[in-house]
Amino acid sequence: MNNKPVISRSGNAIDEAAIRRFEMNFRGRLVKSGDADYNSARRVWNGMIDKHPAIIAYCSDKDDVINSVNFARSHDILVSVRSGGHNIAGNAVCDNGIVIDLSRMKKVVIDAQSKTATAQAGLTLGELDNATQAYGMAVPVGIVSKTGMAGLALGGGIGWLVRKHGLTCDSLLSAEVVTVDGQLRTASAGENPDLFWGIRGGGGNFGIVTEFTFRLHPLKQVMGGMVIYPADNAFEVFRLYRDYIAAAPDDLTTMLALLPAPAPFLSKRIMNVPLVAVHVCYSGPLDKGEQILKPLRHLGEPVQDMISIIPFQEMQSMLDAGAPPGLMNYWKSSYLKDLQDDCINEVLLYFSAVPSPLTQIHIQHLQGAMGRVREDETAFSHRNALCVLNIVSKWIDPAGNEKNIQWTRDLSRALEPYAAGAYVNFMGDEGQDIVRAAYSPGNYNRLVQLKNKYDPTNFFSLNQNIKPET
Ligand SMILES: Cc1cc2nc3c(=O)[nH]c(=O)nc-3n(C[C@H](O)[C@H](O)[C@H](O)COP(=O)(O)OP(=O)(O)OC[C@H]3O[C@@H](n4cnc5c(N)ncnc54)[C@H](O)[C@@H]3O)c2cc1C
Repeated sequence: MNNKPVISRSGNAIDEAAIRRFEMNFRGRLVKSGDADYNSARRVWNGMIDKHPAIIAYCSDKDDVINSVNFARSHDILVSVRSGGHNIAGNAVCDNGIVIDLSRMKKVVIDAQSKTATAQAGLTLGELDNATQAYGMAVPVGIVSKTGMAGLALGGGIGWLVRKHGLTCDSLLSAEVVTVDGQLRTASAGENPDLFWGIRGGGGNFGIVTEFTFRLHPLKQVMGGMVIYPADNAFEVFRLYRDYIAAAPDDLTTMLALLPAPAPFLSKRIMNVPLVAVHVCYSGPLDKGEQILKPLRHLGEPVQDMISIIPFQEMQSMLDAGAPPGLMNYWKSSYLKDLQDDCINEVLLYFSAVPSPLTQIHIQHLQGAMGRVREDETAFSHRNALCVLNIVSKWIDPAGNEKNIQWTRDLSRALEPYAAGAYVNFMGDEGQDIVRAAYSPGNYNRLVQLKNKYDPTNFFSLNQNIKPET
């Protein structure tokens, strides 16, 4: 099969000789449309995304990233950047252009003395955990271990340690960034501090991060897992949960999840009935865990209690089975200022008519350490939100697209009166107003100034895009 031509953004076909020269200097591998693995290489986690890039450039090191940026810039080729490929909007891939893929760059160095981890961008959360847990330490990351670390960290990063240690980007000490001019720049408090501010919440708008250095936090075991209640009592469970989290310690991060037809890891007795799961991760002194978690285990009559002392890595991968790649996925999310009765009622009303048994609604408790960072300290905003709500719609058959998307949009619209901003990492392709809603007005303006400085032509446009001023 012939390869798809590489077309510039202005519609010109790129000379074959130029592509060959690029290939000769590239140490990793270029996958083109004629290659046997092209179809698997162009796929991302969300099965709804079906894009056809001209080239997928699997980089082996930072020089490959620099060469790819220089090649794409000098020929005006559309670029997308992929690390873990988990982005729900599918921004990691593009049509006709080049996917600069860092997923094979997986080196990680732990410095136990200074408690730092220097990690290349291609690591998944689980791979980073493997490396850090070997030293009894952790970086606060997200809740599904297969997720890409790079995209998650650049958008913020909410996980089981968010209340104790803040967002993933709050533990970032420095990063190596390839900017549009092909320069490799360090972004840290001491070097290019404006860029360092922007990449902590501003996503991939300013360049390609090849390597991150994180602060490590000692942690081996947690008291964690989930306790499950029947959905008939969901309203009461919600209210008691809301009252409990109002005074929860920072050592505890929890998430309430509505599950229409739960996963097979539950006992047969409660399969195929709607349930409410309260997920917990308590990372404080373990001898205090029982007492602290007791009220959450009695928000009603539980049908299953799976909370125990477990290795932190087990906590980190507990939800992996519920997030397989390749399904149709359409998400909508927002922060919530509070959990009013009316808001709970809306959620439960829509939940009672959820069109797919695979869909879940997550409400994750925030604040704690995340809320103690000043809003202008990083690009990430909404530091005072009580919770982040995510409507995680998923289904198998594309014939169900319209029905599931409509239900998700309707629920999201019904929750607008209670919403307080958006989180870039959970967003689909939702337009500029929602991107703005992810930031405070002051932070958004500062991001535009940074975009003018570091990427004035919007070369890095496939992301939750901050548009430069024209
Ligand atoms: C199953 C699942 C679970 C999730 N759980 C959580 C969670 O617990 N907490 C949370 O906060 N988020 C979570 N997310 C959202 C997640 O943070 C985003 O999907 C994020 O984009 C994943 O990073 P990635 O490297 O896989 O992104 P990719 O899909 O590879 O890339 C997405 C975008 O990120 C940018 N990007 C990626 N790599 C780089 C790089 N090296 N340099 C510059 N820009 C880059 C680019 O703009 C790119 O378009 C989850 C997503 C999924 C699918």
